[in-house]
Formats: sequence, C-alpha cells, structure tokens
Amino acid sequence: MKRIKNFIWSVVMGKTPVTDMYRYYTVSTVIMMVHVCLFVVAILLGSVPMMVCHALSVPSNLLIMICFVRRRKFVISFYLIYLEVFLNTMACCVIVGWTYGFSLYNLIVVPVSFYMAFMSTNFKKRTTTACVCSIINVVGTLAFRVYVYTVGPIEVYSTNAALLISGFNMIIAFVVVTFFSILYIIEIRSSRAELERMNEELRDMANHDNLTRLYNRNGVKKVMEETFENAMVMKKKFCIAVCDIDDFKKVNDTYGHDVGDIVLKRIAKIMNDALLYGDIVCRWGGEEFLFIICQPLKSATTVLEKIRKTVMEERFSGEDYDFSVTLTTGVAEYHDELTQDEVIKRADQRLYYGKLRGKNCVITQNEMENQA
Ligand code: GH3
Ligand code: MG
Ligand code: MG
Repeated sequence: MKRIKNFIWSVVMGKTPVTDMYRYYTVSTVIMMVHVCLFVVAILLGSVPMMVCHALSVPSNLLIMICFVRRRKFVISFYLIYLEVFLNTMACCVIVGWTYGFSLYNLIVVPVSFYMAFMSTNFKKRTTTACVCSIINVVGTLAFRVYVYTVGPIEVYSTNAALLISGFNMIIAFVVVTFFSILYIIEIRSSRAELERMNEELRDMANHDNLTRLYNRNGVKKVMEETFENAMVMKKKFCIAVCDIDDFKKVNDTYGHDVGDIVLKRIAKIMNDALLYGDIVCRWGGEEFLFIICQPLKSATTVLEKIRKTVMEERFSGEDYDFSVTLTTGVAEYHDELTQDEVIKRADQRLYYGKLRGKNCVITQNEMENQA
C-alpha cells in the first residue's frame, strides 16, 4: 500500500513518467470498478441479463490486461477496451432502454480514448484511431438508439428505478471524467517537469565544461558582460586573468591523456577553491583558464600567486608516476577606456610574455611595463 502511495505521489510530483502500460492498467481497472458498481445495480434491479453483461465484463477486462496490456500490445488493447465498453453499454440500452443513462458510457469513452492518444508515444496514429473509433461509436450508438426506439426494451421497470439508475450512471460518468481529467493534468504537469529538467540539463551542458565542471567559454560570457556593465556603472575595479598550464603536452605525452585529465580536474578544483564569492574561473580552452576577479590588480595578483604556488606544490602521483606542474598567468585590470576584448587581449599578451620569460609566473601590468 505504501509503495502504491509513493508511486502515485512521485507521478503527481512529475518524478515518475507514466508509461502506456500504467495508462492501460488504469483505464482497465477503472472500467472494471464501474462494472462492479453496475453489477450491484443490476442485482438491486433484479435484471439477470444485465448481471450477466457486467459479470462478463470484469473477466474480459482482466483478460485484456493479462494477454495484451502486459505484453505491451497497446493497439489491440485499445480496440478491445473500446469495443468492450461500446458493446456492454449498448447491451444495457437494449435490455432496459435509453432512459437509464447507460449511453453516457459511450460518451465518456471518447475523451478517455483521446487522453490515451495524446499521452501515447505514437500520438498521430493513436489520435487517428481515436477519431475513427469516435465516428464508429456515434454511428453505432445512433443505430442502437433507432433499434431500441423501434423494437422497445427487453425489460421494463418502474419510472423510479429508471430515475435512480440514470442518476447513478450520471454520477459515475462525472466521477470517471473528473478522474481522467485530473490524470490528464497530472501527466501534462509531469511532462512539463521532465521538459524543464531536460532543458536545465542542456543549459548546464552548454555552459559548463564536462571534465572540470567549470564554466566554459559560452557559460562565462553572460557573467563577463554583467561584470563589465557593473564595473562601468559602479566604477568598480576588477581584473581578467588568462592562465595556462606549462608544458602540458609533455604531461600527456609522458603519462597519457587520462593522467592529463586528472591534472586538469585537480587544477580546476584548486583554482575554484582559492576564489572568493563572486570571482569566477572558467575553462577558456584546452589547458587554459580565464579568471574574473572582482578586485583591484594588487589583490587579484595575490590570489593568482597563491594559486600558482598551490599548483606548483601539488604532487600528481599514481602507481607509475609522480610529478608536479606549473602555471603561467597574465593579468590585466579593467579601466574605462578598455573594452571587454581589449582587457582579455592584454591578459593574453602578458601570459605570452610570461611564457617567453620562463613560465611559472604571474605577469601583471606593472611588471610588464617595468620589463618592456
Ligand atoms: P606551453 O607551456 O607553451 O603552454 O606548452 P604546452 O605543452 O602546455 O602547450 P601546447 O599548446 O603545445 O599543448 C597543449 C596540450 O593540452 C595539447 C593538448 O593535447 C592538451 N589538452 C588540451 N585539452 C585537453 C584535455 O581536455 N585533456 C588532456 N588530457 N589534454 C588536453
Ligand atoms: Mg600550456
Ligand atoms: Mg595553451
């Protein structure tokens, strides 16, 4: 019971997608429950033919569930369920006449069949099937209506019985339609939640680097624009740094690409951990990282120096390797006259200069000016 409750709750919350199998089980179960109710009504009425009709319907629905739904033969299940409801309803109308409201069941099978079509994986085909079945249903119902009108019902009961049973049928019809409408809404909600989850996943994939989980070039774009706008309006200082792992090709060539990946991941973590809230590091390219540090040049350089030293002291060791790597970083401070691209270009040029100067260093504007 608890499992069923948990299952229903997870469907309602959109965590468990409803499959065709569950839908057919639900429809068949609801139909069987209605037949059980109508069987009781037939007993109260004392109508043996109606008792037989409803008594037969329960095993036939069970058979459909076992033989076809369980084996995922949904098309044949759809036709058989539809046919069973139609024939049973018409049989009741032929037995007691039209005034008892049994024909309502032929009406409610229409939205239910469209619900099945809309939610199914084969929407187009099933909708066409539901349309065709609806047309056959209305033509068949009219034909039976004419037949019952011409021939008259097999059994005749009091007007009070007709009134009571038609009221009862109406209530059941309302309950069934409401139930499937709620189910329909739950499923739409659930598929919307699934869509949002998938969109979130796609957004994440588009903005983050798969290996290091840092922002990628695309993901950092928005943050960078915001930082620049903010700096322009608030007249705040911030720095852009471009950092590159030294001789990384050698690491790959010597220890293999997988070890190279481990190095990239570990360095990314060191960088991320060293930053303050609001500062960003992204994977700018292969073994290059870009920092946005919302501090003036001096403090930003201190942070970058700390990262450089931590990475330099980090040992990468495994069964048959033990080594360390170094970083070279170029950093530039933003000021009014510079555009986004120009600040990045400056940082890049300083990185290049650092590589020429012997690597494993942080090159700042001042240092560059002093040495140029
Ligand atoms: P330098 O000090 O001048 O930067 O030399 P370098 O060897 O680091 O630079 P180079 O541009 O010659 O080589 C960069 C290497 O980074 C080559 C490439 O295979 C490696 N690389 C880029 N992306 C990845 C990655 O995702 N995983 C691994 N393992 N290696 C990568
Ligand atoms: Mg490199
Ligand atoms: Mg490089």
